Amino acid sequence: MKKIVQDLSFGELCALAAAAGEKPFRAKQLAEGIVQGKKISEMPLSASFRARLLGEYEDEPVKIKETFLSKDGTKKFLFELADGNLIEGVLMKYKYGNTQCVSTQVGCRMGCKFCASTLHGRVRDLSAGEILGQILAVNRLEGGKKGERAVTNVVLMGSGEPFDNYENVVRFLRNLTDKEGLNMSARNLSLSTCGLVPEMRRFAEEGIPLNLTVSLHATADAERARTMPIANRYQIADILDACAYYFGKTGRRYIFEYSLIEGENADERHALALAKLLKGRPCHVNLIRLNAVKERELKGTSEETAQEFLKALLSCGISATLRRSMGSDIGGACGQLRASYLKENKEETP
Ligand code: SAH
Repeated sequence: MKKIVQDLSFGELCALAAAAGEKPFRAKQLAEGIVQGKKISEMPLSASFRARLLGEYEDEPVKIKETFLSKDGTKKFLFELADGNLIEGVLMKYKYGNTQCVSTQVGCRMGCKFCASTLHGRVRDLSAGEILGQILAVNRLEGGKKGERAVTNVVLMGSGEPFDNYENVVRFLRNLTDKEGLNMSARNLSLSTCGLVPEMRRFAEEGIPLNLTVSLHATADAERARTMPIANRYQIADILDACAYYFGKTGRRYIFEYSLIEGENADERHALALAKLLKGRPCHVNLIRLNAVKERELKGTSEETAQEFLKALLSCGISATLRRSMGSDIGGACGQLRASYLKENKEETP
């Protein structure tokens, strides 16, 4: 694989142009071409600079291979990377804007029992430019322009554990929020982690005040370990301390994801235990009914059970919402699309 120009910061693009003997405005042109989601071969550069770049860098490191449209307007994308690996992402349309869900790794090694992304383990990390490339490709397809992005919000909730690919994810976040880049505000970004405590604390020092989201899915460590192996390494109490530390550093309230699983974590006693755990903390709970995954035994609860769980939390004074499950007709849950694609095409991971 060649190098990826979308990995580079604006300062590094300037250094690249200078090293090639190009004038500084060529670096600006390159940066603008990147923001517009263009291939190097389409960018208005000098012929010699373009040829030099194409010798060393991938022309299109992230390609949209297939697009699926859900009845509710959600779009699901299958992307192909330069080495043939496949990743997936979703664009959800809301009244306030369009939220894109991006992947941070090919596969995942966290092993959560309800998740399709981890079925074949982790294949490799994505580079910063491969994470950004998903947004650039979708923003372009949806007609985004400079200063008028079609993708307004980004959530790192696709395949992969962002904090298991820490350096690349932080580099991606810096480039995404750079004023010479897509110039997105950290307030419009969410990062979801299964709770890697040391990285949560390290991230608090980076000065990127985004919406830190933790996948909790249980209220006691032993119960959590039944569906999330990472619970054998980090305790809920330490996760809560790391969240409080993040709040102290950034002033941003944090969010807990809680997927309601039939017969596992969705009874009234769980709602009360969750309320007790979170009472008085500057946080919000996002409930979602588990999306059943073909290869997995676990099932989501009924809508009624989910509503009761929500009511119980609210009546304890916990800020919470029940998310609509979007795009479930097109395999909206993480990793489902890639998993079914690999299966249908009788391909193991490339
Ligand atoms: N690794 C990160 C981010 C990716 S998963 C994390 O664990 O947070 C994004 C969210 O989707 C997580 O909250 C995850 O637990 C949840 N999730 C995974 N599979 C799901 C499914 N089948 N139904 C509902 N939520 C699911």
